[in-house]
Amino acid sequence: MILRSKMQIIKSINSNQEKAVELTENYDIVICGGGMIGAALATQLAPQGFNIAVIEAHKPQTFDLSQRFDLRISALSPQSQRVMQTTKAWDTLQGMRLCPYRRMRVWEVEGFGDLTFDAAHVGADQLGHIAENRLVQLSLWHALSDFPNVQLLCPAVPVAFERSANGTRIELDTGATLCARLVVGADGAQSNVRQAFGIGVNRGQYQQACLVAAVTTQLGQQDITWQRFVNTGPQAFLPMLGQHGSVVWYHQADQVRALSQLSNLQLGDEIMRQFPHQLGHIEVSEHAFFPLQKQHAKRYVGDGVVLVGDAAHVINPLAGQGVNLGFQDVACLAKVLNDAHEQEMDWSSAKLLMTYENQRRRANSLMLHTMDAFHHGFSQTHPAAKWLRNLTLAAAKVPVLKKQVIRYAMGL
Ligand SMILES: Cc1cc2nc3c(=O)[nH]c(=O)nc-3n(C[C@H](O)[C@H](O)[C@H](O)COP(=O)(O)OP(=O)(O)OC[C@H]3O[C@@H](n4cnc5c(N)ncnc54)[C@H](O)[C@@H]3O)c2cc1C
Repeated sequence: MILRSKMQIIKSINSNQEKAVELTENYDIVICGGGMIGAALATQLAPQGFNIAVIEAHKPQTFDLSQRFDLRISALSPQSQRVMQTTKAWDTLQGMRLCPYRRMRVWEVEGFGDLTFDAAHVGADQLGHIAENRLVQLSLWHALSDFPNVQLLCPAVPVAFERSANGTRIELDTGATLCARLVVGADGAQSNVRQAFGIGVNRGQYQQACLVAAVTTQLGQQDITWQRFVNTGPQAFLPMLGQHGSVVWYHQADQVRALSQLSNLQLGDEIMRQFPHQLGHIEVSEHAFFPLQKQHAKRYVGDGVVLVGDAAHVINPLAGQGVNLGFQDVACLAKVLNDAHEQEMDWSSAKLLMTYENQRRRANSLMLHTMDAFHHGFSQTHPAAKWLRNLTLAAAKVPVLKKQVIRYAMGL
């Protein structure tokens, strides 16, 4: 199978690479994409002794405490934390910037639905942590530096994949050529690996978009993340260290685009006008517009290839679960590969990798559909729909249900 032609297009886009790496080497596993999920997977496979290359297009900026908080952040569940704790990545992240949150409040402005989840309800210290995506990636990269069997090639982009009976030959824009027994697509929502291996996707676009703003609040350290539902869509706050935080504003796409044109000062005023007053005075330091999409690869596994993270599935960020699903993919795929390697089985066979696909597709579909139902349920203005969602929030107050919801959100 020759996959070369599609990837050739990418070559011209990325022809301005700065550094040429001369390499022609055989690897057990080549992970395309060294973001949070690709890097996390490498940390889970490296101790098993696989010979791994991670190819990443963009070098993340190194961390310095004086830097402003990044705009791109994620709420990491305890389950994602556990994956990172298997190496020194979690300690490294804690040594940079990381904000635990203990409580989460969800409420409907026009109605009686108002629910607060507290870590204490399930005997935990926190529900999760808010982290900057770049720092999660950097801490995972730091953990990878302990493994001589992992090569991080960055900046580099695959420009051609050629499949043969012996594996896949990958040409990079640096001029290097790699051979892999298994290629992993961890290259995000627009995955080139997925396209090159001919794996289709089911996708849908929401009419809403979201605006994310990095803010400084008047108040001190917060331990609560909240989301309130208004007629135009949800409004959310995620705490960061000290007085820092992130505001997420869902609205019709054209409205969000208009908001994103405002200056930081104007947007701050608009947020203070439209958002709840819990935060007091706020200042916006940076903001950006994100379209909302849902996407699910038709297969996670092909001949010599497997997909993880956003390359396999993209969900509405409403409940902040996208990267957490990716970490769950990582834990599952690493177990399948490591167990097979230990038992000297053919760990790269599509038959074996289907164990991973079968487990993860079910769980990811459930979350995709739950977020979809949430999105549609909470964007209805019909009185019956309002009544129903208020009732749902009220029902979730029943202690046994509440515990289940918390445990699901924590990935337990
Ligand atoms: C507004 C917003 C808020 C979100 N909030 C949360 C949250 O609170 N909690 C949560 O769990 N999730 C959240 N998500 C989802 C989360 O950001 C994604 O699920 C997560 O980033 C996916 O990680 P990934 O490593 O799979 O993909 P990506 O983060 O997209 O990483 C892919 C990596 O591959 C590299 N790459 C791409 N193409 C190539 C190529 N051809 N060659 C080499 N390298 C390549 C990229 O440079 C990148 O480093 C949010 C998403 C959005 C849009």
